[in-house]
Amino acid sequence: MDNVMKMEFSALAENESFARGAAAAFVMALDPTVEELTEIKTAVSEAVSNSIIHGYRDRKDRSGARVIMECSIFAGGKVVIRVEDSGVGIEDVEKAMEPLFTTGDSEERSGMGFTVMESFMDRLKVISEKGKGTVVIMTKYLDTASGI
Ligand code: ATP
Ligand code: MG
Repeated sequence: MDNVMKMEFSALAENESFARGAAAAFVMALDPTVEELTEIKTAVSEAVSNSIIHGYRDRKDRSGARVIMECSIFAGGKVVIRVEDSGVGIEDVEKAMEPLFTTGDSEERSGMGFTVMESFMDRLKVISEKGKGTVVIMTKYLDTASGI
């Protein structure tokens, strides 16, 4: 492992852009292209918004409900981003990952978050247990691999 950062924040909507910006700033050390950076930011937004909206859907105590994001970057251009919540969990992960599947309000949610993460990153792993929470691990290999 070459460089790692870990942060914990409250499950508040405004922290979605904070997490996205923090991940982008950290990954800058690998000299990503504008496109790669946009893809990483979008994937982080999708994972973090899922934790906030779905993971903690019934939580009134928003500041106590926490999301943990860990980013690791490796020489050679590998990026691993892990987003974790201790929320309600997902009963059927395979089904949840299907395009257009959503348990949310159909006017607001399109059920495309996991599909976006999958297409913008090279690997997506979702580990979840009902009542315990969800961990999303995303890996991306950057083309422009400058050393760190
Ligand atoms: P969109 O992301 O397009 O706004 P969405 O969030 O419903 O819609 P996905 O991000 O693909 O779509 O997620 C699919 C479903 O998986 C969600 O509707 C929700 O039921 C479940 N889900 C995703 N992430 C979590 C999570 N962290 N905790 C609990 N359930 C989750
Ligand atoms: Mg989503």
